[in-house]
Amino acid sequence: MSEHNAEIIIIGGGPAGLTAGLYAARARRQTLLLEKAITGGQAFTTSTIENYPGFPEGTSGPELTLLMRQQAEKFGLVIKTGLGVDSVNVGPPGFIAVCGDTSFTAKAVIIASGADPKRLSIPGEAEFVGRGVSYCATCDGAFFVGKTIAVIGGGDSAVEEAIFLTKFAGKVYLVHRRDRLRAAKILQERAFANEKIEFIWNSVPEAIAGEQTVRSLSIADTVTGERRELDVSGVFMYVGTVPSTAFLPVGVDADDRGFIRTDDKMMTSVTGIFAAGDVRQNALKQVISACGEGAVAAVSAERFLEALED
Ligand code: NAP
Repeated sequence: MSEHNAEIIIIGGGPAGLTAGLYAARARRQTLLLEKAITGGQAFTTSTIENYPGFPEGTSGPELTLLMRQQAEKFGLVIKTGLGVDSVNVGPPGFIAVCGDTSFTAKAVIIASGADPKRLSIPGEAEFVGRGVSYCATCDGAFFVGKTIAVIGGGDSAVEEAIFLTKFAGKVYLVHRRDRLRAAKILQERAFANEKIEFIWNSVPEAIAGEQTVRSLSIADTVTGERRELDVSGVFMYVGTVPSTAFLPVGVDADDRGFIRTDDKMMTSVTGIFAAGDVRQNALKQVISACGEGAVAAVSAERFLEALED
């Protein structure tokens, strides 16, 4: 097994991790960011970001997170992508992040691994991933030009991405389990005004069917119990997220849904391990707050290292 050293390891390359990296690198700490896929996190899959200050015309997730990456690298942040962390072992003297047959040691760790889309686990969902079932409108929307598709969920992601998908699709059903949306009012106004979106209230998806690709979605009305099939070529799932914490070391406190508990300095229950962004309990789950938490975590990690050196 090969071993590499850093002073601070950041796990996860979304807005929280990239901002933590920017601050840690500017503190002149040898900082290594490990990202299991590509940098940008969930924000990378977001078509339009209109509530990140400084962009009066809005920006896209890929554009914004690429700029964040460039800015952090300019100050010396080392980023390794395609490197999933299997486990984090707690020293002494420090921490060891294990990625396959490579391990990385550091005196402080910032967990910014974010969250992954929640699966509904209905029949056909896993089977048709990449063949009509998607969790990323930005990635897959262009495959549905002129088609009829369904979006599941009533939160910011579902409504925002349903609107985005109308750029491609001929018709978008928005299937929601209640009779009211959870999404921000401005998104609701736009969705209600969009003639390509048809709302299906009080309905839950039960199964996805097709041959080579998706052909239909079965839904059930939660009030009447009535079942029906929607003829759709695609189903986009936006039913929430689950924290990405499979590697979490023993001793790091998390809530019953797996979100990491921290104090207001972003320190977890293990001294020297910090957490920031969507992986943290009670996070606002916005790009702006993920960045703020990443900055706090990095400054706290820097103070922790200074105290060790005194
Ligand atoms: P979310 O806010 O948790 O919404 C998930 C939606 O899926 C809810 O409408 C929920 O219904 C529904 N749902 C959950 N489980 C379900 C099930 N088993 N069957 C059917 N429907 C189910 O998730 P999100 O929209 O992905 O957003 C995650 C976080 O990121 C939120 O804090 C959000 O504000 C933030 N975000 C912000 C922006 C933005 O600011 N522009 C964009 C995207 C995301 P109920 O409403 O009945 O619970």
